Amino acid sequence: TLDADFFIRWLDAAAAAVARDADRLTELDAAIGDADHGSNLNRGFAAVTRRLTEKPPNAPGAVLTGAGRTLISSVGGASGPLYGTLLRRAGKELGDAPRVSRVQLAEALRSGVGAVAELGGAGGGDKTMLDALQPAVEGLTRSFGAAATAAEEGALATVPLRARRGRAAYLGDRSIGHQDPGAASSALLIGALADTAT
Ligand code: ADP
Ligand code: MG
Ligand code: MG
Repeated sequence: TLDADFFIRWLDAAAAAVARDADRLTELDAAIGDADHGSNLNRGFAAVTRRLTEKPPNAPGAVLTGAGRTLISSVGGASGPLYGTLLRRAGKELGDAPRVSRVQLAEALRSGVGAVAELGGAGGGDKTMLDALQPAVEGLTRSFGAAATAAEEGALATVPLRARRGRAAYLGDRSIGHQDPGAASSALLIGALADTAT
């Protein structure tokens, strides 16, 4: 089972991955957006790490809701409220249980993904972070490794899609042939989860 410390280590690993790949995320966003996704998320996750160090919560749900709130308040771009909503909703679903199972986490993230879809009006195939997150949640019901693989495949599968939501949608057909930056960062988040679990 997964305790608060596991969730803190997951988000720290996610922050490290975002910092490491910030330039790549920004380059992806330069092609079909406004070239700020790496810096947006790097700022947000650095704030999350700082806060977790200063005030480590003692339940998995509280780690996620706190991180979600921090992302919403520290990221200017669309991805801040979207990732913030994902983590806040998932954290709320987990409640104040001191330990949760992988399957409980998958169910909580499924609710979070639903909240992201509701907030942003996107669905699968619209070339957004949902294209990595939705398959990741299904994979997570089986194993951490399956979640990471599904997220990675989902992110790569955004390349031939035409964007229907977010800034990239303004490009229409010119968004085809590029990986969605938010799907790429979602794959990093889920990859960090799998790394933390193994
Ligand atoms: P901004 O577009 O405001 O500069 P970012 O560059 O940080 O914000 O994030 C862009 C990413 O956010 C996109 O690649 C996409 O994955 C995601 N995104 C944008 N709008 C939506 C939406 N309506 N629903 C889901 N994801 C979205
Ligand atoms: Mg952007
Ligand atoms: Mg922007």
